[in-house]
Amino acid sequence: MKIKLTCKMCRREGVSLCGREKCAFKRRPFPPGAHGPTSRTRPTAYGIQLREKQKAKRLYGINEKQFRRYFDESSKKKGDTGEFLVRTLEMRLDNIVYRLGFAKTRSQARQFVNHGHVEVNGKKVDIPSFAVRSGQTVGLREGSKKSPVFVAVQQTLEKQRPPSWLRIDSATFSGTVLSQPENEDLQQIFDPKMIVEFYSR
Ligand code: ZN
Repeated sequence: MKIKLTCKMCRREGVSLCGREKCAFKRRPFPPGAHGPTSRTRPTAYGIQLREKQKAKRLYGINEKQFRRYFDESSKKKGDTGEFLVRTLEMRLDNIVYRLGFAKTRSQARQFVNHGHVEVNGKKVDIPSFAVRSGQTVGLREGSKKSPVFVAVQQTLEKQRPPSWLRIDSATFSGTVLSQPENEDLQQIFDPKMIVEFYSR
């Protein structure tokens, strides 16, 4: 199931999640339905945890069932569950396509993957949730490189500043995953600790 990210969600979460230049949150930086920035009531601990979880889900465009599965898998591993969760989210193919600058937003990245434009180690992968591993190369399919949309994207790749765990090769329209994200590369606009607390209630 796909989750449509609307700017109502950006306003609900109090942060621009959509990546759009004209995000409605920038014009109306208070929750939908509220008449202004002052009508907010103080949230409960549960409310805060819930919002952080929703923020993460919407940012990556994942439904509850899949998000819960990511959490369950992360909690089985020895170590920081929140870190494992963020790492799992970051290693999704659609996210890496976005991080490499092949797409303007994560939802556009998902579309590119769905439409069969993306390959991993030279093989077409059209599953946005595909878990990329370190050492693998994510690239654009040969046939897609000639399309005007991607010709324009390729011209911007040289100026991209990807996170340190990714390396872009603009000439071949590809990027290599050097390692899994660590430390500051795990920092997000949501607090993974709150998500762990939410599911541990
Ligand atoms: Zn928005």
